[in-house]
Amino acid sequence: MYIGGRWRPAAAPETIAVVDPADEQVIAHVPAGTAEDVDAAVRAARAAFPGWAATPPAERARYIAALRDELARRVEEIAQTVTSELGAPPALALAVHANLPVAVAGSYAELAGSYAFEERIGTSTVLMEPVGVVGAITPWNYPLHQIVAKVAPALAAGCTVVLKPAEDTPLTAQLFAEAVHEAGIPEGVFNLVTGLGPVAGQALAEHEGVDLVSFTGSTAVGRKIGATAGGAIKRVALELGGKSANVILPSADLAKAVNVGIANVMSNSGQTCSAWTRMLVHKDRYEEAVALAAAAVAKYVPGERVGPLVNAKQQERVRGYIEKGVEEGARLVAGGPEAPLGVGYYVSPTVFADVTPGMTIAQEEIFGPVVSILKYEDEDDALAIANGTVYGLAGAVWAGDESEAVAFARRMDTGQVDINGGRFNPLAPFGGYKQSGVGRELGPHGLAEYLQTKSLQF
Ligand code: NAD
Repeated sequence: MYIGGRWRPAAAPETIAVVDPADEQVIAHVPAGTAEDVDAAVRAARAAFPGWAATPPAERARYIAALRDELARRVEEIAQTVTSELGAPPALALAVHANLPVAVAGSYAELAGSYAFEERIGTSTVLMEPVGVVGAITPWNYPLHQIVAKVAPALAAGCTVVLKPAEDTPLTAQLFAEAVHEAGIPEGVFNLVTGLGPVAGQALAEHEGVDLVSFTGSTAVGRKIGATAGGAIKRVALELGGKSANVILPSADLAKAVNVGIANVMSNSGQTCSAWTRMLVHKDRYEEAVALAAAAVAKYVPGERVGPLVNAKQQERVRGYIEKGVEEGARLVAGGPEAPLGVGYYVSPTVFADVTPGMTIAQEEIFGPVVSILKYEDEDDALAIANGTVYGLAGAVWAGDESEAVAFARRMDTGQVDINGGRFNPLAPFGGYKQSGVGRELGPHGLAEYLQTKSLQF
């Protein structure tokens, strides 16, 4: 573990096995950190905080730029590591898992230098000051992106960090710590404790020396962390699940909307919180869309374009949801619950038609390569279905006319909407309405999460 600028062993001898989900072989062991290690890391972060907070933003920006360069130097190694611990196909691992975090780190190198940490409002000067020590708890689905999306803005703001990465993907986190070290970031500013969620994660969330907990993962754990933070009157940011709607309005280019929609869900084997897992199609074009979706999904071959799920538990969970969809009367048009390969935690890319809004597969986050196609009568019906889950993380709208799609998107209860396949913007705020979470990541809004304000009247 990386604590106070040094690599050191854990307090207890236990380790966690890291498994390659494509062949089920153990590839490494990492320390299973405990409350004692978390405490040492929080102390190191606390000790480093005054110095880092007082470091001029332009200097912090230079450190973050050095970190970006160290990550950029390692993209091949990062991609290979993500492939071996998450199972992501090599092309996806390089393009998304390795290169996207480099871009996000770069955006914060820039923002740290340009952000207005002070402003004059009327007769007051308002100071935006770092919150303090951040406890960051990250999931396995985008191992490096999730880390950078928390650590880079925290460092830009002047906070210090203790990271507890997911137990399935700790090797990518270790590479990140190496990059931090090589970038020369002062000791204690960033600390890494690997370990199990209910042990190391919980100890971090509950530690009284942590001023802000930033968590990404399941709604169940997020609820617990939110309650703990509430009890301590501590800042909290939660990025949780989603059940995003891909709304295809009647005037849309149907083939494009369906093909991009299927690609969106199949990417990363469906393990994306913002995936458009519900496809909403007008009744007059419904069967045409179903046929297009079945044809599109056939191109996603497990073991080639589609990797395995991260572990056996997730594979079983997703297969269970597919069985549930069949039981509840949805029409299977591609895939099914059978594991497509003998070895590895693969799930067949699956498309369900005749899904109604009340079905389990239309309400719960599956986190696998499964698309549900729902039918709507008119725009109001489409909106009611789109907004009809407890989640509100992302979504898409397609229409012949961009302004028609934008008008629909304005009525959606969700944090992000892509219009006619709009491009991913690493500076746009990312986060959820409703039970998809509180707080935002990325860009200036992501930086603001790590700041608290003080006003001086003069
Ligand atoms: P999880 O919420 O259990 O794990 C996320 C992180 O939280 C990990 O680092 C884990 O070690 C830690 N954690 C677990 N229990 C904790 C506790 N009691 N206190 C503090 N930290 C704790 O998620 P999971 O079990 O790995 O995945 C389950 C489901 O979560 C998925 O099927 C999916 O629906 C959802 N998920 C969402 C995202 C997302 O990006 N929003 C990412 C991963 C998983």
